[in-house]
Amino acid sequence: MGLDGAGVVEAIEKDETRLTVGQRVVVFPNLTCGRCEFCQRGDDVLCTRMKLMGEHVDGTFAPWLSVPAENLFPMPAHLDFVQAAALGVNYLTAWRMLFSRAQLKPWETVLVFGVGGGVSLAAMQLAASIGARVIVTSREDDKLQRALALGAHEAINGRTEEVARRVMALTDGRGVDVVVENVGEAVWASAMKSLVRGGRLVTCGATSGDQPPADIRRLFIRQLQIIGSTTGNALEFKEMLSYIQRRQIFPVIDSCYPVENIHDALDRLECRGRMGKVAVTFHGG
Ligand SMILES: [Zn+2]
Repeated sequence: MGLDGAGVVEAIEKDETRLTVGQRVVVFPNLTCGRCEFCQRGDDVLCTRMKLMGEHVDGTFAPWLSVPAENLFPMPAHLDFVQAAALGVNYLTAWRMLFSRAQLKPWETVLVFGVGGGVSLAAMQLAASIGARVIVTSREDDKLQRALALGAHEAINGRTEEVARRVMALTDGRGVDVVVENVGEAVWASAMKSLVRGGRLVTCGATSGDQPPADIRRLFIRQLQIIGSTTGNALEFKEMLSYIQRRQIFPVIDSCYPVENIHDALDRLECRGRMGKVAVTFHGG
């Protein structure tokens, strides 16, 4: 198991020029083939033979990991291993959604659904860091309070408030430029109704169901865009790491366990109160 990871380079092939032994590195999670149509045109994120660690090959819950050199990148200098490991999946996914796919700009407003989730939390932090106005939703007040403390500008409790109505009130009846969501059916109607004319909805998941009403009339009359996204490519990962370092952004860590207590870590994943990454450490660090 395990898809995120960071550590120290112990050994590399003799002809490796980009990495050095002893270097602190973070794992880029996608093992792409380099040969299919999509890899060859530079869209390796669409690779037809992509393998994921912990799914198709052994994962990162291990004291030692063997990966292609191109899957390792120098860690942002201000982060420790746990913080750097947290960047691999959630922050990369959020980065591609916001900046490559939805083309979010600093003067725009973005609505992020389910800010208690890892990608949503990363999207909130990254969007706020470029200066965009960020509205978040959650069904739990403590997570909304935490998001506000971490940089969100407005918070909506989806359990007690009608999200689209509140969004319209917060934006003087205009709506938001971008919606980031991965909840699916439970919020889709609210997401569509919250968009300004010409707005963009970017999705990377469907945890509550994947067959919401399409609302096609609203889609074409208001000229909305629905954009699918998942993970990110190596260039986006490299750019994201540079940005995280330059802006001194710290990923949110919920808790950290030595591998001897890994069952406690897995239990923690299922706790409702969890927010941010649950980390497992090896070799005492
Ligand atoms: Zn490929």
